[in-house]
Amino acid sequence: MAKDAENQGNTVAEMIDLDMEATAFSHACSRYRPLDLAALSKTRGPDMPIRRVALRLCENCGARDCGVLLRKATREERWN
Ligand SMILES: [Zn+2]
Repeated sequence: MAKDAENQGNTVAEMIDLDMEATAFSHACSRYRPLDLAALSKTRGPDMPIRRVALRLCENCGARDCGVLLRKATREERWN
């Protein structure tokens, strides 16, 4: 019933705030591509839902069914 309580997809700004890393994954060609959340925030706006990002075309094969993997960034990785 409480649709507002469902997680409809965090926004780019929220992911940056939570130190999350996003990686686009193309089911069609099994390619992973890290997403630059800071750049997305500037080009698409901070309120861009991550789920919308996932619907972008795969730059490698042009597939439209790309998914986005989210994970917490570690301090070591952030410094790399
Ligand atoms: Zn692809």
